[in-house]
Amino acid sequence: MYACKKCRYLTEQDVCPICGGEVSKDWQGLLIIVDYSRSKIAERLGITINGKYALRVR
Ligand SMILES: [Zn+2]
Repeated sequence: MYACKKCRYLTEQDVCPICGGEVSKDWQGLLIIVDYSRSKIAERLGITINGKYALRVR
């Protein structure tokens, strides 16, 4: 699993399917957003797509 360096989206692909950004294997913390419109964390992180995200990406 890779994490996008820009939006932190977790993906199996080597390019982020959301923003097309560079991905990294060096990430920590798993955040699952099931309904971003109701999530305060998603709002704070600027997440507008449901899915799995890393909390930290290097
Ligand atoms: Zn991305």
